[in-house]
Amino acid sequence: MKNKSLDRDYFKYKGKTKKKKGDDGLTPCCKQSTDYQGLNVRNEEDWERIEHHIERKLGYYSNMDSMTPVSCETCGRLLEYKTKLKDRKLY
Ligand SMILES: [Zn+2]
Repeated sequence: MKNKSLDRDYFKYKGKTKKKKGDDGLTPCCKQSTDYQGLNVRNEEDWERIEHHIERKLGYYSNMDSMTPVSCETCGRLLEYKTKLKDRKLY
């Protein structure tokens, strides 16, 4: 190793290479674990499962108005369900 001054750029670069070296195991688009085989809205079978899931929830919770399967726009990975409840004032 040469005699080298360690400046801010050195440490900036150092941090970057460290990240690249040990792949963080997350998808670059939506930061989901690549190990986790989640549902994908672009997969026909998965979509059916998502539909069934929402149908079941709607049947179970009467105060639920709708449910939105929120997915990654890049890879279609299902990220979360957003639940919309009925306005309580309606009762
Ligand atoms: Zn994604």
